Amino acid sequence: MAESEFDIIQHYFSGRQPGRADVVAGIGDDAAVLRVEPGVELVACMDTLVAGVHFSETTTAAAIGHKALAVNLSDLAAMGAEPAWATLSLSLPSSDADWLRAFADAFFELADSHGVQLVGGDTTRGPLAVTVQAHGFVPAGEALLRRGARPGDRVCVTGTLGDAGLALHKRAGVSPGLQARLDFPQPRIDAGLALRGHASAVIDISDGLLADLGHLLEHDQLGAALQVDVLPRSADFLAGLQSVGAAGEALFYELPLAAGDDYELCFTVPEARCNEVVRRLAEIGCACTVIGVVDEAEGIRCHREDGERYYPTSSGYRHFNETG
Ligand code: ADP
Ligand code: MG
Repeated sequence: MAESEFDIIQHYFSGRQPGRADVVAGIGDDAAVLRVEPGVELVACMDTLVAGVHFSETTTAAAIGHKALAVNLSDLAAMGAEPAWATLSLSLPSSDADWLRAFADAFFELADSHGVQLVGGDTTRGPLAVTVQAHGFVPAGEALLRRGARPGDRVCVTGTLGDAGLALHKRAGVSPGLQARLDFPQPRIDAGLALRGHASAVIDISDGLLADLGHLLEHDQLGAALQVDVLPRSADFLAGLQSVGAAGEALFYELPLAAGDDYELCFTVPEARCNEVVRRLAEIGCACTVIGVVDEAEGIRCHREDGERYYPTSSGYRHFNETG
C-alpha cells in the first residue's frame, strides 16, 4: 500500500468526530473502553459487505461507506436500540486516497447523523471487504425481538418496498431516487424507538419481505395472510416499472415481496394498538402500511384485492441455497 495501515487510520478515520461522553478510550489504544449505564442493555450486531457479493465494481466508495454502517444501524433499529458506537474492519487491495476519502466521508456523515462514534477497528491488505460492528442501547428488557407475534396481530411495514430491487434489476436507466434507495439506505432508527413497547415482533427487511417475515413468523410457528395489492410502492418504483415493458406486471408484485436491500422494518402489532402505532410513526414522518394478519395456518399466503391467491415465484435472496 502507498500508505501504511497507521497512516490510513490517522488520515481517514481517527479524530474525525466529537467524542461521546461514554467513550473512555477510542481509536488509538489496543481496544476501546466503553461505558454502559446501569439499567441499560447493550445491543451488538455485525455485517460484512464483500466486493462482488454485496456490491459490484460500479458501486461508489461513498455508497459502500454509507451502506456498511447503514445495514448495521438497520439491525439496531429492528431491535429498538439507540445507536452509540461502531467498529470498522477494512480489507483493502491497495490504498487509494480518493476511494478512502469518499468512503470515510460517507461513513462519518451517516454516523454523525445518528450520534454514532467510531471507536476502533482493523485495517488489512486483502480483497475488498468491509465489516462493521455496531452497538446500541435499550432499557433493560425492552429490546424488540423476532419472536413474540401472536395470531390476529397485524403485519406492518415502514416506507416503501421494491425500490432497491428495481434499481438492481434495471441496472441501466435507473432514476436517481431508485439508485439512492439501493446505495444509501436510511436505517429506520426513529421508527424502531417508536415501536418499543408496542410492536410484538420486529425484523428489518434485508433479504426481501417474504424471507424476513418468514424468519419472524417461524419463531412462533405462525403464518400470515398478506394483501399484495396494498404493499407500499413509491412513485419512483411505479415510474421505473413503466420502462421495463411486459415484465412490469410481474415485477409490480415480485420486487416488493422478494427483493432485498430495502432496509425497512417489518413488524407485528396487536390489532387494538395498530392505529396508534401507525399514528405514532406518522408523527415522526415514517409511513407505515398494514399489509396482512398473523394466523396459525402454515406459511405466508398472498392474496390479490379480489381475494384470489397470488403465488410468488421467488421468496428472497439466499447466500447459500438449499442444495449447497
Ligand atoms: P493493534 O495492533 O493493537 O491491533 P492496530 O494497529 O490494529 O492496533 O490499530 C490501532 C488502533 O486503530 C486501534 O485502536 C484500532 O482499533 C484502530 N483502528 C484500526 N483500523 C481502524 C479502522 N479502519 N477504523 C477505525 N479504527 C481503526
Ligand atoms: Mg489490530
